[in-house]
Amino acid sequence: MTLSRHLRGFVGPWAVTAIAAASFGQAASPASEGRDGPNIILIYADDHAQRAIGCYGSPLVSTPNIDRLAAEGVRFTQSFVANSICAPARATVLTGLHSRANGQTTNGGGFDDELPTWPKLLGAAGYETAMIGKWHLPTDPSGFDHWVIARGGYYNPDLVRPGSRERATGYTTEVLWDEALSWLEGRADSEEPFVLWWSHAAVHRTWMPGPSWHGLHAEGAHPEPATLFDDYSGRSPAAAAAQMRIAEDLFRAYDLKLPPTGEGVLDARAAAMLERLTGDQRRAWEEAYAAPNAAFAAERPEGDDLVRWKYQRYVADYLRCVSALDDAVGRLVDWLDEAGLAEDTVVIYTSDQGFFLGEHGWYDKRWIYEPSFATPLIVRWPGRAEAGTTCSELVQNIDLAPTLLALGGVDVPGSMHGVSLRPLIEGVHLFTWRREVYYEYFQRDSGRLSHTVAPHYGLRTQRHKLLHVPDHDFWELYDLHLDPDETTNLYADPAHAALVATLAPRLATLRERYGGPADR
Ligand code: CA
Repeated sequence: MTLSRHLRGFVGPWAVTAIAAASFGQAASPASEGRDGPNIILIYADDHAQRAIGCYGSPLVSTPNIDRLAAEGVRFTQSFVANSICAPARATVLTGLHSRANGQTTNGGGFDDELPTWPKLLGAAGYETAMIGKWHLPTDPSGFDHWVIARGGYYNPDLVRPGSRERATGYTTEVLWDEALSWLEGRADSEEPFVLWWSHAAVHRTWMPGPSWHGLHAEGAHPEPATLFDDYSGRSPAAAAAQMRIAEDLFRAYDLKLPPTGEGVLDARAAAMLERLTGDQRRAWEEAYAAPNAAFAAERPEGDDLVRWKYQRYVADYLRCVSALDDAVGRLVDWLDEAGLAEDTVVIYTSDQGFFLGEHGWYDKRWIYEPSFATPLIVRWPGRAEAGTTCSELVQNIDLAPTLLALGGVDVPGSMHGVSLRPLIEGVHLFTWRREVYYEYFQRDSGRLSHTVAPHYGLRTQRHKLLHVPDHDFWELYDLHLDPDETTNLYADPAHAALVATLAPRLATLRERYGGPADR
């Protein structure tokens, strides 16, 4: 049997692994390949929705520096996560595994630190490895030659290093650039290639703009999504029950930066958030919000007008954090040019997940619906990734670990669920690729300070999405070509019964392989 005939016999990602190995010699000695591999910088944002990135067609913001990476590399248009929440996403990035297999199914814990990860394997192959920024896993980083964890939010973060913890002064996005620059310059004479996971705390709640970005993104100017006033009809009861509505679940002082008016623990949290600021930072903060808060107090919007006002305040602050992050990306890219490293360095831009920016009336993430399920993925690799191209294959954050290993010339463990995107990055057209991606959200929480999103799981193909909410035994089916906003549930439509009959067994197979227990 010829190789090509053999490969055509496969469907799914395993064939891709075989092709990648055949095409790029991944079976070569890790140690010898590793020393010659490119440097790799994984820029990892938090909660950065595709809709807030210029090159993804954002109606809200321009991001010239992230867009530059896309203009000089390849942008993945169908990029998704396995479980749209912070800690599980990081565990998946490290291990190439869906949440059930790596143990970190929720933000709570359970990560299996004994699993193979890309820092351990690239380190063993001769790479110098570093992690700078948000970590969020219950164990200390392992496999990294250098690590520093930032804790404490947007201002004056605590920098946790092996054996020490020290509060920095500055806006966290800029502090993390200082930390990255310091490490990059400190290793300038090293002959080893490096891999840096530059993991930002931005643009996570509570969207606190930095002093240099207060004046951007005037409130009132941002177009509203079509589903800002969604009534959740046709969706599972879990959608209406989720506590992540802009109308009701953004808190005055904590989220909206209004004067506190008796929200108890949330007011205390907001006060603690501001207590971190220095005097100068606090004065700039008070000055920035004084006039718009005075206008709000004078206008006293109500009803839908109040929802619209909250949306504008929320999105403006979110975008101010995005712009700071984009500026930090620009500093890094400029530095690579100045250091003469741009040609030898793969730069990846992605986020731990997407985010709702008013779609379905929501903020936050967690859902398999597109705004939080999709995540940006851009790869610049000069000379290897064709500039200004896009790839529309279905890719997922389970693929990042295999991709980093393949870039470093290291064998991808067969136990990893993801596959290397290296051939796609290099523009190799593969005649077979996965036909669907699997998603599962596990976290179960309750109470006023929780989002109370019910656990659910599903499958997405290039065109359709099938999902199940076990708590309500409720199924949803969407045609993403005809209904990109996911408001028309086709599951009970007799015209789609045959499609359901095709997709449901595929979802059951994926869940058995990757996910939770079978439905009872
Ligand atoms: Ca996140």
